[in-house]
Amino acid sequence: MQRLRGLAEQLGVVYQQISDTYSTYQRQRELFCRSGCGECCLHPGIEASVLEMLPLAIRLYDEGTAEQTLEALQQHEKPGCFFYQRFSEDGKQGQCGVYQQRPAICRLFGAAGYTGREGQVELSVCKVIKADHPQALKDSLIALESDPPPMIRNGKEQVRQIDYELGGRNLPINDAMVQALEKVLFEGYYASMAEPEPVIPLDDPLDYARPA
Ligand code: SF4
Repeated sequence: MQRLRGLAEQLGVVYQQISDTYSTYQRQRELFCRSGCGECCLHPGIEASVLEMLPLAIRLYDEGTAEQTLEALQQHEKPGCFFYQRFSEDGKQGQCGVYQQRPAICRLFGAAGYTGREGQVELSVCKVIKADHPQALKDSLIALESDPPPMIRNGKEQVRQIDYELGGRNLPINDAMVQALEKVLFEGYYASMAEPEPVIPLDDPLDYARPA
């Protein structure tokens, strides 16, 4: 369990750097997300690694809700992320229920760079932002060379480097969360079994007064 907690701590540092870098680009280019929009959280194709979900899994474990969340996740059938809180009938309005511990992919999405087929830098922008800010998009595309976007693969690599085994494979986000919770519950169980019994000193005079 200590190892998982250590990984989660490292992830916390990297997540902060990633959030700063990617949101700064979005803000400077005026490619703002629409307020209250949750379309990306509803997308059936969101993927994350088990590693990315660890900080959230550990938080739920510490709060004592890991097992019940695991059960609910295993029964979850709605499209999109389990942690998305819907505020509108069609689900397009809503918010992240776990914003502080959201995985890396949720910090990279919005407006960021990727490598095109010819090796050139391309700009990936969500369709809602494209519709809301056509001029900012045009300016950002013109400025691709002079003001390149942070690359999605760099953010992902920063995370993967923390642990290649847990971070090397992407899964649908809810499946990645199931595996992260199973891992944390498994290691938490063995850590609690391995905890040493409290030692009562033999010469403790109070020991004689304790009931048998
Ligand atoms: S973790 Fe939060 S931001 Fe990421 S997909 Fe789920 S609801 Fe959306």
